[in-house]
Formats: sequence, structure tokens, C-alpha cells
Amino acid sequence: MEHIKVRGIVLREVDYREADRILEILTAEQGLLSASARGARRQKSPLLPTTQFLSFCDYELFRNARTGQFTVDAAERVADFRLLRESVERLVCAAHMAELMGDAARDDHIDTPDLYRLMAVSLATLNRVDRDPMLVVRAFEFRLMCLIGFTPVLDNCAVCGIPLEAESAGVRFGLAICGAVCPRPSCAARSGERLPLEAGTLACMRYLRDTELERLYSFQLERKEFESLSDICERFVENQMEKRYSKLDLLATL
Ligand SMILES: [Zn+2]
Repeated sequence: MEHIKVRGIVLREVDYREADRILEILTAEQGLLSASARGARRQKSPLLPTTQFLSFCDYELFRNARTGQFTVDAAERVADFRLLRESVERLVCAAHMAELMGDAARDDHIDTPDLYRLMAVSLATLNRVDRDPMLVVRAFEFRLMCLIGFTPVLDNCAVCGIPLEAESAGVRFGLAICGAVCPRPSCAARSGERLPLEAGTLACMRYLRDTELERLYSFQLERKEFESLSDICERFVENQMEKRYSKLDLLATL
């Protein structure tokens, strides 16, 4: 038996057997860990509140030397994202972010401390009543794509390479080519499907790519610019991850 301590966020909990849970915990040093929590669904279990979706805790884990499997021994809460549990809209956004992060973190080649920090900062921001949850979702998606190697071309036309000023008119976002495309007909013809890209949105994307993580959510957008960011991020993520993410569809039914 090996005993380890990790700080992590529960991205997924699945009921198992009569009263157990299987968890997926995102950690800085160990990436995405799978661990079982025995008896965690019993009303009197101390693990009941610390092994649920979005729990952010210091976990003491045992690793079975023979099977390599982790078991949660104890947990101490680091932060409680209470607003996320009280607001259905924010909870849906968090569920979408957790699904996307889980898919990204399963890739062994990814630098997991950065993913963990992005998740922690993003959930803390989503937990703030003064923040628009969908703005948090889109900024999170964009930064995550950059972290896992899908940074779009934003400073030059992705086809011809001419520099793009922030105020360039007619610039669009090429989905397949993964970058901004200038309005020249020859570039338009060679870039496949292109989405409208407001000048303010292009500037925002550069900010989301470059800024320190702590300042990631310190930006504002006009309505039209946000809609452009939103449309691009939704399609861009599905294109790069080759998966349709459907949890946000629930927001339309609220
Ligand atoms: Zn061009």
C-alpha cells in the first residue's frame, strides 16, 4: 500500500455497487486520477460531501500496490463552489466545462498543472454572482484549446500570412484552417467554412491566448462581439475535439 496526498477537483462521480462512488479527480501533479470512495453515498459517511461532482479538496489516497487502483481514505475541503450548486444555469455550465476538461486531460501528452490551474480559476470565477456564466464558458474553452495545442492563427491571415490589424474589416475565422482569414477572395476560397469575426472578438481571442491565467476573466465584450466569440468557440471546440458537446443545450430549456 502506498499513501499519497493530492489536491484535486472531482470532474466526474459515478455510483458504484451499493454505496460506493468512482471518481475522476483532476490534480496538478498526477493529471486525471480515477479513485473509488467506499461507502461514500451513505448518509453518515464523512466522504459524502467531499466526493461529489465539483468537490475541491485535499485527498488522502491509498494506492493498491498490486492493482494500482486508488481508494479515497480521507478528504478535506479546500473551497466550496456553493453558487454552482444553487444555480441550475451555472451548474450546467460547470458540467460542460468538466466534460471538456476531462476529455482534454485524458491525453497523456498534456501539461496537467496548467489544466488544473485553469479549472480551479474558472470554477472560482463561475462561482461569482457578478460574472456572466456563458462568458466564463467561452473564455475557458478558448484558453483550454490553446493549452492543448490548438492555438489558432490570430496575428496573420492563416492562408496568405499578411499581418492582421485588430481593426481589419472583413476578417473571418476559418474553422478547418484554425485561424483568422483576411478578406482577399483567394484566401476566402482556400479556407473552407468561415465564421464572422468581429474586430473586438479577434482582440479578445488574442487576449485569451496571451494573458496570465489570473487575468483571464478580466475582459468585457459588446453583445455582438460576444455572440461572435460564442459561435466560434462552440464550433471550434467541436471541430478540434471531434465530439459534439450537448450539455449546454439544456440552457435553452430553462
Ligand atoms: Zn489572406
